[in-house]
Amino acid sequence: IVRVTGVKKSFKLGATDVQALKGVDLEIYAGEYLSIMGPSGSGKSTLFNMIGGLDKPSEGKVYIDEVDIAQLDAFELAWLRNRKIGYIFQTFNLIQVMTALENITLPMIFAGVHNDAAVTKGIELLDLVGLDKRYNHKPQELSGGQQQRVAIARSLANDPAIILADEPTGNLDLSTGEEIIKLMNKLSKERGVTIITATHDYKMLNASDRVVWIEDGLIKKIEDRDQLNIDVGCIRMA
Ligand code: ATP
Ligand code: MG
Repeated sequence: IVRVTGVKKSFKLGATDVQALKGVDLEIYAGEYLSIMGPSGSGKSTLFNMIGGLDKPSEGKVYIDEVDIAQLDAFELAWLRNRKIGYIFQTFNLIQVMTALENITLPMIFAGVHNDAAVTKGIELLDLVGLDKRYNHKPQELSGGQQQRVAIARSLANDPAIILADEPTGNLDLSTGEEIIKLMNKLSKERGVTIITATHDYKMLNASDRVVWIEDGLIKKIEDRDQLNIDVGCIRMA
């Protein structure tokens, strides 16, 4: 569903050139749950921005359903971002002047869903992520973990085929984090959503089909879940 070939990305910072990605090749299959692990600064978020069409590689290509996303026009790219991919950002990126519920209905309204239907589904999604009865609170009035849940609910608004989740459990306590992992596992196994997550959370590997280890802008290895020889903790997924 996603194919990344020879992707490099450098950022100019004054006279210095930061090479965030140094040549990444990766194929991600429809319906799989892929985790990207690596130290801080290794290029995980940068890779996400490339896959999600939020930034352009300096070199190389990203294909989604075999379409080179650099070739998309503005409307096609907007469609990709609003309908095909759900994003969960490391820093949430919620709209501060809108309530939790409004943050979730907005992408649906953009997609042409009627307001009543969007509100009904928005409430369903907020209940799904366990943000009970805080529909009308704005992000500043919510804790980090609660904002994280709103961001997760928003990513699901338009039933995306792909979810790109950057540290989705990074701001959550252990048990909430486990619930989120179970929820994402369910989306992947029951609804066939392709989940791509960047994480430091070993527990996340319980749900993952494959793990990509990235270091200093390069993929070091890719392992199937049953090849891992680290203790990933234990979560009952059923
Ligand atoms: P973390 O685990 O801390 O989130 P990461 O693996 O997501 O780290 P990236 O955010 O992808 O790391 O950053 C990779 C490298 O690229 C870092 O050295 C970072 O400083 C640099 N970088 C990322 N974005 C930019 C930018 N917009 N301008 C300049 N440098 C950047
Ligand atoms: Mg990051």
